[in-house]
Amino acid sequence: MSAIEQNLQQVTARISATARECGRDPGEISLLAVSKTKSVEAIEEAIAAGQRAFGENYVQEGVEKIHYFQQRKFIPPLSWHFIGPLQSNKSRLVAEHFHWLHTLDRLQLAQRLNHQRPEESAPLNVLIQINISGEESKSGIMPDRLPELAAAVAELPRLRLRGLMAIPAVESDYQRQLAVFQRMASLFNGLRRQFPQADTLSLGMTGDMAAAIAAGSTLVRIGTAIFGARDYGAPTA
Ligand SMILES: *Cc1c(COP(=O)(O)O)cnc(C)c1O
Repeated sequence: MSAIEQNLQQVTARISATARECGRDPGEISLLAVSKTKSVEAIEEAIAAGQRAFGENYVQEGVEKIHYFQQRKFIPPLSWHFIGPLQSNKSRLVAEHFHWLHTLDRLQLAQRLNHQRPEESAPLNVLIQINISGEESKSGIMPDRLPELAAAVAELPRLRLRGLMAIPAVESDYQRQLAVFQRMASLFNGLRRQFPQADTLSLGMTGDMAAAIAAGSTLVRIGTAIFGARDYGAPTA
């Protein structure tokens, strides 16, 4: 068994155990393997172990990997999530290649993506990113702006509003992690009252996965625990 396969098994087991401990069905929580900076060989090992959903932070790198795997058919098929900050001038590449965008934070970007999403593709699944720790430097919208942006995004036919995402400030204390994630969960529940089709709450990374699951995450984004430490410092965005 490859190291990556072993790591995937451990992460999956941790997700299930954590879910059960807090009375949740492990089937409600999906695993996004964050493969930024990692090689296609590493991704191939994860695919061989059954993983299908991958997260990338850099547009060019992600598109190259998508192209690399494009000719090969997997069952179920691969799905590619863009989880990094997205500049407007790169929106077309995301619209044309990815299945999901986790970092939607402005209407103008949503309108561009809606316009650029190819006719033959399914609508782009989008998550609105919330600046839940209220930090100046972090991307995402302030919670009070969510109703307005969500309503506008829901009107765009080539996008599908699936839910919310956040990257809280780094915090090692479990209770404090949990408190922040619970604020996200309550925003998510509010969103679902208005848009019942919103089914995805993207929360939790290697260092705060347990608190995210306890608060209600439906999609954890895990890099280090699957692929090992990254070789170069990735942006904290
Ligand atoms: C890098 C990254 C992750 C994965 O982080 P790990 O700590 O390696 O699990 C998750 N989400 C986002 C947005 C990232 O940029």
